Amino acid sequence: MTGTSIIQKYQETELAIKLISLGGRIQMLESETNLSRNKLIKLYKEIQGCPPPKGLLPFSTSWFMTWEPNIHASIFYNAYAFLVKHGLKSGIQTILKAYQLYLEQCQFLNKDEPVLGLTRAWILVKFVEKNIMQQSCCTACQGLFITHAYHPENTFTCSLCQPPSRADKNKKTQKENNEKCLKVLSKPSYFNSSIAKQIPA
Ligand SMILES: [Zn+2]
Repeated sequence: MTGTSIIQKYQETELAIKLISLGGRIQMLESETNLSRNKLIKLYKEIQGCPPPKGLLPFSTSWFMTWEPNIHASIFYNAYAFLVKHGLKSGIQTILKAYQLYLEQCQFLNKDEPVLGLTRAWILVKFVEKNIMQQSCCTACQGLFITHAYHPENTFTCSLCQPPSRADKNKKTQKENNEKCLKVLSKPSYFNSSIAKQIPA
């Protein structure tokens, strides 16, 4: 690339390494850096030990509206919105920071893989920026949850306050996890004070 300084290239490589380590897809890396596709694929193989997955990115809003993903997407987006509101620039670096916070908050969920992958988190931010999705306030718990855009105000009840019937059958641990999720989502001060400590001055 002509006009790209060595420092800029180094920074972009560093960003790509972070994104790949957290499971970022090649299409996302191409969009966020000026590195060539070949270089990104090489980096991916080196870090993940396998070729990057092929196929389209999951460009669908419906996944975010299913029960468990919605809770996770909402936790991530709450962190992202909080960081932006407190002065961090919107964009990939803040997405990365919010995603790391999401991973920390969701450690209690004891899963091998996070429900919300980094690429989906990135797509979610794009969806909100393009007015395809938004945050809506649950009328019961006052938590902010991801919904389709233009959801009528004061009509939304979240999936934790009104879980689908199949969720009732889940085990106790699942119930406990949901209670923790609800605590995180419905009391912004609880979540925000833990994030606030991590915002650089
Ligand atoms: Zn609720």
